[in-house]
Amino acid sequence: MPDHPTRRDVLRSIAGLSALPFLGVGSGDALGEEGPATAPDRPAGEETPWYRRYLVGIEWGPTGANDRDRVYMSRAHGGEIIRNLVKARAEYAVVFMKDMKFAYYNSRVARKAPGLADRDLLRECLAEATKHGMPVVAYCQIQYDTSSWDAHPEWRMKDSGASEIGGRLCYRSGYLEFIQQVAAEMMEYEIAGFHFDMLDFGFGPPYGCWCDVCRREFREEHGIDMPPGVTWDDAWDKMFQFRADSNTRFCRKLQAFVKSKRPDVAVDFNYHGSTPFSWETGQRPVQHAANGDFVTAEGLPFVLGHYNPSLLALFMKAARPDGLVQGVTSRSVYDYHDFTVRPTADLKWEVFCYLSHNAQCTIVDKANYDGTSDPLVYERLGSIFAEARQKRAYFGHPPIQEVGLYFSSRTREWFAREDSVKYYRAFWGAHKALTQAHVTMGLIMDESVSLERLRQFPVVYLAGVAILSAQEVDLLEQYVSGGGNLLVTGLTGLYDQRGALQKQAALQPLMGGRVAGCQLDYPDNYVRLPASLADGGAAWLLEGIRPDWPMLTWGPIVLWEAATAEGFGELLAAHRTEDNPWSHRMSPDRVVGPAVLVNRHGKGTVITVGCSPDAAYADNYRMPEHRRLLSNLVRRLHPEPEVSVEAPPNVEIVVTQDQARPRLLVHLLSFFGPPTAAEVAFANGRRVLPPLMEEELPYRARVRVKRPLANVRTSEPSATLSVEGQTIELTTDGCHTVLEIEL
Ligand SMILES: [Zn+2]
Repeated sequence: MPDHPTRRDVLRSIAGLSALPFLGVGSGDALGEEGPATAPDRPAGEETPWYRRYLVGIEWGPTGANDRDRVYMSRAHGGEIIRNLVKARAEYAVVFMKDMKFAYYNSRVARKAPGLADRDLLRECLAEATKHGMPVVAYCQIQYDTSSWDAHPEWRMKDSGASEIGGRLCYRSGYLEFIQQVAAEMMEYEIAGFHFDMLDFGFGPPYGCWCDVCRREFREEHGIDMPPGVTWDDAWDKMFQFRADSNTRFCRKLQAFVKSKRPDVAVDFNYHGSTPFSWETGQRPVQHAANGDFVTAEGLPFVLGHYNPSLLALFMKAARPDGLVQGVTSRSVYDYHDFTVRPTADLKWEVFCYLSHNAQCTIVDKANYDGTSDPLVYERLGSIFAEARQKRAYFGHPPIQEVGLYFSSRTREWFAREDSVKYYRAFWGAHKALTQAHVTMGLIMDESVSLERLRQFPVVYLAGVAILSAQEVDLLEQYVSGGGNLLVTGLTGLYDQRGALQKQAALQPLMGGRVAGCQLDYPDNYVRLPASLADGGAAWLLEGIRPDWPMLTWGPIVLWEAATAEGFGELLAAHRTEDNPWSHRMSPDRVVGPAVLVNRHGKGTVITVGCSPDAAYADNYRMPEHRRLLSNLVRRLHPEPEVSVEAPPNVEIVVTQDQARPRLLVHLLSFFGPPTAAEVAFANGRRVLPPLMEEELPYRARVRVKRPLANVRTSEPSATLSVEGQTIELTTDGCHTVLEIEL
C-alpha cells in the first residue's frame, strides 16, 4: 500500500485477500439460478463443506424437558421435522440430540427422553434428510447439563469461596471425556456436524472456577496461586487468561477428538466473545472466534436491539480471519420458547441482514411440548429462504468498508470491569450512528490489530477506547504518519493497562493538544458550534446542526488545550447546584474547552472530540444531531467514498465488490417498525416493547458512485431506477434491495 491509501488502493488490497469469506459464490453465476455455489479458495476435487456452501438453515429443538408425563416429545418424528425444513427451503438442519436433561437418540451413556419410547430421533431425521441431500447437524449442550451436574459432584464448577455453582461444569474436569463419549456415539450416525452450545462461564457472578484441579493447573501454568476472588491486579490478569484458556482447551480437545474419528464432521461452538457479553463468559473476541470450523452467535434483535444483527456479523467477521461466520435468531416474537411467529417481513429483514454481511443464517424453531411443529413457521420461512436462494449470487463478495471501528477487549476488561456498558455505550453508539448515516464499516480487534489491518480503512475510529497499549499507539502512529485518518472520541487512551486514569492521553503526540483535565462525575455536557464557523472555513462541521445551539452530549468529557491542532466549536459544562431535584441534569453554563481538535500528523489527519457523541447516541438522551456530528467528522476525513447514499436512517448499506466482474453490489436493508407501546403502568414506565416489522414499506434512495458507471440493475422487479451521470435514484419497497452497478 502506498503512503496515501486511496479508495482504489484499499479496494486492491481487499481484493488481494484470498481467504475472504465464505460461502464462496462463484462470480458470473446467472442471477435467479439456484444451486450450490463453489468455493473458489478450495482445491479442486475436495468437497466443499456444507457451512461454506449454504446460506440458510433451521435449528429444531424441544420445549419443556421433563419426565413427569409421557406427553413430552411423544409426537416428535424425525421424518416430519425434516419434511417441514424442506418445505421451508432450508439447506441444512440442526437438530437437538442432547440438552440439559436428555438425549434424543439411542444413547448408551445419556438418558433418552422417555416420551420417545423406543424411537431414535436422529436415525429418523437422517433417513428422511438423505432423500433430500440435506446435511444434519447434531445439537449438543455443554453448560447447564443438570443431569451430569447431579450425577458427578466432582465435575462441578466452584466459585472463589469453594461453593459449587449450580448447573455449571468445570472445563478441566472429566466432563470432557463424557462429552467425547456422547460425540462418539453420534458419529456412528451419518451426521454432517456438531453444534456445541453454551460454552460460557455464566453471564455474571458467581464466577468460576476455583476447583482443586483448576487451582493446581493455574499454579503450574502461571507460577502463582489463584487470586482469592476478583482482585483486579496482576493475578487477576492471569486469571482472565486462565479462564479463557480453560474454555479454549476444552473446545480444541473436543474438536480434535471429533476430527480424529470423522474428519468430515464439522464442529462449531456457540460464541459469546462479542457484545453485549463481556469477560464474565470467559471468552475473548478473537481467541474464541478461532474455535471450530466457523463461528456462530445469536443476533436476537428483540432482546439485544435491532442494530445487533449487523454489529454481530461485523464483529465475528473481524474476529475470525477466514470470515466463516453464522448469525442465529428465533422465529418467535419475544423469546425462544414462546409459540408466536414473527411476521414474514420481520424475519426476512434479519435473514437478509446476515446474508448481506456474508454470514450464514440459522433460524431457531422450538417445537410444541409434544414434539409437533407449527406449520406457519415453515410457510413464512419458505418464502424468505426461497428468495435468499434466488439471490445467492449477490452474496459472498468482499466488502468495501470506509471506517474501521476499533474494538478493545482490554478496555472492556480493565476499564469497564463489571459495568461493560461503560465502554459499550460509545462502541454501540458509533456503530448505530455510522449505520444510520450510511457509512460502511468493518471492525478492527485489539487482539489481532496490525498495520496491514489498519491500512485497509481510509478512516480508523476509536470510540472511547480508554486503554491503548504502547504497541497499539505505535501502530496507530505509523498508520497516521503514512496517510491514514483517525477519529478519536471521549476517554480514548486516557487509562493505563490496569484501568487507572492517567494525566495525559496515550495518543497525545498525534492529537496536537494536551489534556487540561477530565470531567467524569457529571455527564450533562454540551457542544455548541458557533455560526462563525461557517466563515472560518469550518462549514463542514455545521451540516445538519443548528449553529449556536447547545447540544446535550451525555457522557464523560476531556478538556483539551490545542497546541499544533486547530480547535473548532465549544464544549460546555453545566451549572452545578445543590438542593435541586434536577441537579444531575442541568442546563449549560460555561465553555471549558474546544469541541473538536483537527491535527495534521505526517501525511494523515487526526480529529479528536472532547466529548462522547457516540456514547450519547446510544444512551437515553440521544438526538439525530449526535449522528450528524459524527458523520460530518467522517466526511471531513474521507470526503469521497466509493459509494455515498442518501436514504432514511432506517436503511443500512452494505457495499461489496465482485472480484471477477467490474461491478459493485450495494445492498440496502430497511427496517420499518410501527410505533411501539409499553405494557406496564406508570412508575414502571419506559419498558417499551421492541417494534415488529409487518410490512416492507417503500422509500427512496439516492446513490452516488465515485467512478463512472456503465450500467445499473436492481434485484427487485418492483423497484424503479433512474440514472443521471454517476447518480442513481432508486425507489423500492423491498426490505432487501441490491443495486448491481457495472463499472
Ligand atoms: Zn475447575
